[in-house]
Amino acid sequence: MPGFELFGDKERKELNDVLDNGILMRYGFDGMRKGHWKAKDLEKTLESKLQVKHAQVVSSGTAAVSVAMAAAGIGSGDEVIMPTFTFVASFEAIMMLGAVPVLVDIDNTLTLDPKAVEAAITPKTKAIMPVHMCGSMANMDALQAICKKHNLILIEDSSQATGATYKGKPLGSIGDLGCLSLDFVKIITAGEGGAVLTNNEKFYTNSDHFSDHGHDHKGNDRGAETHPFLGYNFRISELHAAVGLAQLRRLDEFVAIQKKNYSILREALSTIPEITFRTVPEGGEESYSFLSFFLPDLDIARKASKVLKDSGVDACFHYYDNNWHYIRKWNHLKDIKSLYPISSEVKSGLKYLQTKTFEQSDHYIARNISCLIKLSWTEEQVRERAQLMVHAITSTLNK
Ligand SMILES: *Cc1c(COP(=O)(O)O)cnc(C)c1O
Repeated sequence: MPGFELFGDKERKELNDVLDNGILMRYGFDGMRKGHWKAKDLEKTLESKLQVKHAQVVSSGTAAVSVAMAAAGIGSGDEVIMPTFTFVASFEAIMMLGAVPVLVDIDNTLTLDPKAVEAAITPKTKAIMPVHMCGSMANMDALQAICKKHNLILIEDSSQATGATYKGKPLGSIGDLGCLSLDFVKIITAGEGGAVLTNNEKFYTNSDHFSDHGHDHKGNDRGAETHPFLGYNFRISELHAAVGLAQLRRLDEFVAIQKKNYSILREALSTIPEITFRTVPEGGEESYSFLSFFLPDLDIARKASKVLKDSGVDACFHYYDNNWHYIRKWNHLKDIKSLYPISSEVKSGLKYLQTKTFEQSDHYIARNISCLIKLSWTEEQVRERAQLMVHAITSTLNK
């Protein structure tokens, strides 16, 4: 990862189809597009590859999460349970609809802890959103059981784990709705883009209309279409969809390369007794986008992170000190630094963040280092990297 590392002729060919006829929009202009429908093809290919009845491609992964929630009727004042460790997009997408993000601890899977989820359910809870971070997944059986018991909607954010599976099913196809991102740094990229996945007919129709101003997409005259309900514009362009289509066809190739590189690094790090690896739920198969492990304590993790960097091992993240992915540094959320007035429901709904602590999440994130697995490395480079990593970590441990 990321898929852009191997951008090449296949991506250029799909792009050139679009450039040849100049129809950059995904809807309409039937006569002029010479049979090229890249966004539609991308949706069909997602449906077959990710084993889901419907895919709606949109402009970003963040948009996908908002569209999925709107499609399921989540809005003003509703509570959505999400993890403390994720990308800022998770709470942004929830708050865009006037709903309240309820942050909940993670466990040794680096994703939602089912016990913490159950403890956070209130009469206002509408949905649970696990985020499959760094190429692996949440315990989907446990979360599905909770959703069933409390009649909640399950929305998977598999933006960072496209290509991973749980009990044989692709991530994103298991919940009521799945979301993925095709942004520039994901395992497959469209430059910018995302998708909503669902087996639910109504959620699909809602996503299709909502992401295009509420258009019903009946017939082939956009001006004559009706609007059964309000929507926004979260459309993807044909240019982006073309790149995404070529990359999606290469997903298995990318996962295989990552698995090979990941396995070499993991085997090397396994020789260090102080290291434990993140837990992958039973029946899960990672996308191998990251190798994530735990060190004995925060101090060692901080030092190891620095020694790794200084030894030239790039792209290893210590998220405890990172501004993007962990609650600890999200002061703009805690202080609700909004450009415009925020509804009183969201304001009072977020008050808990002023005082709440997340010791259990800290326990894992403080000690975690996650290293990106690249597609462009040669085997020699991976072996050299493995040696550098082992040396950096053992020298930190022995200090
Ligand atoms: C990248 C990402 C998103 C958002 O994707 P964009 O396409 O950049 O909007 C959402 N959730 C997670 C976990 C991500 O990593």
